[in-house]
Amino acid sequence: MLTDTLHRPLRDLRISVTDRCNFRCVYCMPKEVFGSDHPFLPHAEILTFEEIARLARIFAALGVKKIRLTGGEPLVRRDLPLLVSMLSQIPDVDLTMTTNGSLLARNARALKEAGLKRITVSLDSLDDAVFKAMNDVDFPVAKVLEGMEAAQKVGLEPIKVNMVVKRGLNESSILPMARFFREKGYILRFIEYMDVGSSNGWRMDDVVSAKEIVNIINAELPLEPLDPNYKGEVAERWRYKDGGGEIGVIASVTQPFCRDCNRARLSAEGKLYTCLFAAQGHDLKGMLRSGASDDEIAQFIAHLWSKRSDRYSEIRSEKTVALPKVEMSHIGG
Ligand code: SAM
Ligand code: SF4
Ligand code: SF4
Repeated sequence: MLTDTLHRPLRDLRISVTDRCNFRCVYCMPKEVFGSDHPFLPHAEILTFEEIARLARIFAALGVKKIRLTGGEPLVRRDLPLLVSMLSQIPDVDLTMTTNGSLLARNARALKEAGLKRITVSLDSLDDAVFKAMNDVDFPVAKVLEGMEAAQKVGLEPIKVNMVVKRGLNESSILPMARFFREKGYILRFIEYMDVGSSNGWRMDDVVSAKEIVNIINAELPLEPLDPNYKGEVAERWRYKDGGGEIGVIASVTQPFCRDCNRARLSAEGKLYTCLFAAQGHDLKGMLRSGASDDEIAQFIAHLWSKRSDRYSEIRSEKTVALPKVEMSHIGG
């Protein structure tokens, strides 16, 4: 069996459906680098829905149990629900999506009807001024909240909310976000700011650690740790002691979890990345477009995965920060 050759299991696949986005988050696509003249991928270079679905089926046969659509902003890709309906036919795969929520209100129903199970919405503050300082566009928080409401209404649940915390920008939003989403019953997950890509000017001093975040919340809303849902879960779970739900913290910088990493990433142009911090991907689109069979593609992926020794977060240092790395907007988190 091919799957036997995968020494670190391959369970989780992120598929970036576009490298474009209508936001310019300072930690992901800063405006100075991703300006109006930025060379985004031409349409012909992006995988078609049929190509994505074929690869997804091959990954599923190799053991992938969870597929997350991402980007760039996945909802800027035209007809995305059509892709969702193609992927939702793959048996035994949990299909979900991460979005900035800006186009969610109008798409929630179509996504649900196409077979999307759940959704994660990124939101870094409830305060419009702070939100704007984080994403560099004039977009009201209320519209993102509307998108979440629409998702809840059609049953894309549980809704998770991702908040990246960057020192000096949105620490003051940690508690208001915790209070608000506790009331709503959405699972808020705090993400340590990471040195992904080469354009966000990351410095260790800008990272607010998961420990610090938990302490801030715990001082007002007492927390206790929860067991992970499964081995390799990236978010560390905490529960409000009064029974008011749970939060997660993703401590990829201060408590790396490479050992259990079972996640592959497929870029919009069809390159496979075995690590979020890889400099280069492996071309699957070339194989698809030159007539390779499913078996040949599966063999190629299995071989790559079996040789994989990625552990960037465990060896992160002042030196590694300067290494060339793929941008977050290419592989979607
Ligand atoms: N545009 C969608 C969104 O923002 O949800 C999907 C793509 S985005 C690249 C996926 C996730 O990566 C988001 O939750 C975002 O906040 C997170 N992210 C982007 N850059 C990051 C960074 N430098 N450190 C930590 N998380 C980051
Ligand atoms: Fe766009 Fe998401 Fe990156 Fe923000 S984090 S710039 S919304 S891709
Ligand atoms: Fe996985 Fe690479 Fe992140 Fe480590 S640094 S958890 S190997 S993606």
